[in-house]
Amino acid sequence: MFLVDSHCHLDRLDLASYDGDLDRALQAARDNGVGHFLCVSIGMDNFPEVLRIAREHDDVSASVGVHPNEHEGKDPDVETLVKLAADPEVVAIGETGLDYFRSEGDLEWQRDRFRRHIAAAKRTGKPLIIHMREATEDTLRILREEGADEVGGVMHCFVEDWDTAKAAMDLDFHISFSGIVTFNSARALQEVARKLPAERMLVETDSPYLAPVPNRGKPNQPAWVRHVAEFIAELRNAPLEQVAEVTTENYFRLFGGRPALRNVAG
Ligand SMILES: [Zn+2]
Repeated sequence: MFLVDSHCHLDRLDLASYDGDLDRALQAARDNGVGHFLCVSIGMDNFPEVLRIAREHDDVSASVGVHPNEHEGKDPDVETLVKLAADPEVVAIGETGLDYFRSEGDLEWQRDRFRRHIAAAKRTGKPLIIHMREATEDTLRILREEGADEVGGVMHCFVEDWDTAKAAMDLDFHISFSGIVTFNSARALQEVARKLPAERMLVETDSPYLAPVPNRGKPNQPAWVRHVAEFIAELRNAPLEQVAEVTTENYFRLFGGRPALRNVAG
């Protein structure tokens, strides 16, 4: 079994049950069959830490970007993003996108920031990690306007309907499911997970957020991406091994790199 947690914030994990030791949390994930982690940047302040973690672990990759809800801190221009993305540990641009739920007022700055990230992705040839919340129409429109299909990427923590999934796939994007798909209330999303072409699917934790059933409400950790994959396997009437294999293949095809040479248990 080899799973990839395609979206986690390793610099923000609650490590209380691991004596504050990130390495132990990662080992618990490996023991659960998780063999690779994409540690996602949310701002210029946390990027150095994200990069440090990726450098220290051969099974951790990094992204660079500023989350649409980041109000403080630097808002990098295209040039800066391109420069930071040149580091070999950096495999993606993001997370970026639009969030009209948690930000208010005239959000032109968010759209402008989003466009800069797309430009940087195109300049570097690295795929995009998209965060989209209550902003479906504008997100898809800007992806189209800016020619994001040139690089593609992933709609992370996808919670939208089938039509939106199809529109994203038309732009050459993948769809990533988080713990939300395991929630009882997520019937429509479960339908999307059932129908989605396997070659477009990724799994993630978005840890420390959004822990899947049966750990809903607790601080999330990468080890639990297995619960997401198990749930999807059941939905699709497929063996867990098959979901693991195809989502891992999809991950490395999209983001490049290769699995670290270590044994993953489970
Ligand atoms: Zn995230």
